[in-house]
Amino acid sequence: MQMPKTEPANFDKAILQEQQTVSRMIRIYCRAKHQPEGELCAECEGLRAYALHRIERCAFQPDKPTCGKCPVHCYRPEMRARIRSVMRYAGPRMLTTDPVAAVRHLIRTFRKPSAKVKQAIQRQNDHA
Ligand SMILES: [Zn+2]
Repeated sequence: MQMPKTEPANFDKAILQEQQTVSRMIRIYCRAKHQPEGELCAECEGLRAYALHRIERCAFQPDKPTCGKCPVHCYRPEMRARIRSVMRYAGPRMLTTDPVAAVRHLIRTFRKPSAKVKQAIQRQNDHA
């Protein structure tokens, strides 16, 4: 499959889409697991704020793989574990509720890392 190239003009759009997808996944997860009174429970609200901030600050935008596959561990381990369970739970469910966003997320997940990402992996290995 030919992956669409993300042009610099789409930079903000890609970030926004990723943020929306992650927000939606956290909402699906929280509703099912925590039955919050409002939109999200306090814990998931914190996770969402953290994840959105990380996406915004990500060094690899717009050509990054999704955070689950990213070679750079910018998430704190505890937050990383939490976002992973959110994605494991909400990912398959989004295929039925919002297939477009789910597929977009999958495409990013399986996208080959760009040269920039590969260099970062290399640098990490050198320091290991
Ligand atoms: Zn929650």
